[in-house]
Amino acid sequence: MPLTEDLHALIQHTPFVDTHEHLLEESARIALLERDSAPAYGSPGAFPAWPAPDFGWLFSQYAATDLLIAGMPRADLLKVHGWELSPKEKYRLLAPWYARARHTGVMQAAQTSLQLLFGAEDLREDNAERIADQFRTRIHPGYYRVLLNDIANLEYTQVNCLHSPVFRETEQPELLAQDISFVKLATELDVPAVSKLANRDVGSLKDWHEVIDWCFAEFGPRAIAVKNQSAYVRALDYARVTAEEAAPLFARYLRKPEVLSPAEHKAIQDHLFHYCIEKATEYGLPVKLHTGYYADENKMPLHRLRRNAGDVAELLLAHPKTTFVIMHIDWPYDAETTALAKHFNNAYVDMCWIWVVNPLAGVRWLKEFLVTAPSNKVLTFGGDYLAVESVPGHAALARKGIAQVFGELLRDGWLHEHEVESLAARIMHGNAHELFDERRVARG
Ligand SMILES: [Zn+2]
Repeated sequence: MPLTEDLHALIQHTPFVDTHEHLLEESARIALLERDSAPAYGSPGAFPAWPAPDFGWLFSQYAATDLLIAGMPRADLLKVHGWELSPKEKYRLLAPWYARARHTGVMQAAQTSLQLLFGAEDLREDNAERIADQFRTRIHPGYYRVLLNDIANLEYTQVNCLHSPVFRETEQPELLAQDISFVKLATELDVPAVSKLANRDVGSLKDWHEVIDWCFAEFGPRAIAVKNQSAYVRALDYARVTAEEAAPLFARYLRKPEVLSPAEHKAIQDHLFHYCIEKATEYGLPVKLHTGYYADENKMPLHRLRRNAGDVAELLLAHPKTTFVIMHIDWPYDAETTALAKHFNNAYVDMCWIWVVNPLAGVRWLKEFLVTAPSNKVLTFGGDYLAVESVPGHAALARKGIAQVFGELLRDGWLHEHEVESLAARIMHGNAHELFDERRVARG
């Protein structure tokens, strides 16, 4: 049996393919060094502005949610993200709430990023100034490569841009492969934005089909996958609705969307969702679906989430030639995804986000998964972050979890020592190569 440190070293040296991020373009992060310079991208989710270039970025997005849920006043959090206070003043506002939330996966990832990027065991009042300074000076051309390739040991990342209607034209396609988002094509329709992008007038469902066709023709050859997070706004119970049934509803929608009933809106979405799945299949693009737990706070309809896996089973049946990637292991209903991956040829499960949402659920789930379903059906890392600085910490947590899984399986005799290296390579990058390599742009 290998010594624990050998196992940790092996996992440390095995690169991940990172299958899910929301990273901004590096040039946009550089532009954000100047106050008010880059709201070209829009604001991040529930917050009115991007953070100032300091450690506030490590306490944005999921860390911000943990702080708010712990009780931090939103106005104080905004000051931590803002440009007015000194680093020490920001730290003092943060400290009481950080203390309450510091054991969560999200905060442990933030602490690990502080260690990896700034050599600091943790953020304290007496190092806040130095870390804020170093955070800013680190942001320069080429820093994404250093953080993602060299420090986080990722081969490349797959990015779902939240700030483009369909597809982000990236400046670094070999590092930041891009998903097509088909949310605005099907489930949260944005006819004005997408028809402008396609430079077409839309007066009928047929026209809209042509806009979707154009999006796939234009972006499909350069996309790595398609992504849809409609589970945030509706159930995944996409019924089969024919074009003949949907066409009159869509025509009414174009004239006056507010007169349609919820059932009529659903029917349009149902039709277009399946249409997009078929287009993705035609272009050989895996379909990534958000399932399970919600980001942000105070809005999660758990009754509905509970049915995600069952609804996905219907999609797997309806589209047997389509590869589906079930994201975030559908936590807290993660056992169902193991059943789907074990039963359906076309179901894959992605552990993206989970190592910060619930790291020990990740350990438990992966350990069970490896003795239940074929090991080629799992992807083990996606950071799910807007801030590149948060990714190394998350990747370190994922490696800690995977090393624990292997350690426990070896200890209990479920795995042999000679299998570890190839299995680690498979689940950390090999499966992603099998699923996505045809889609990769030639790496220069
Ligand atoms: Zn995401």
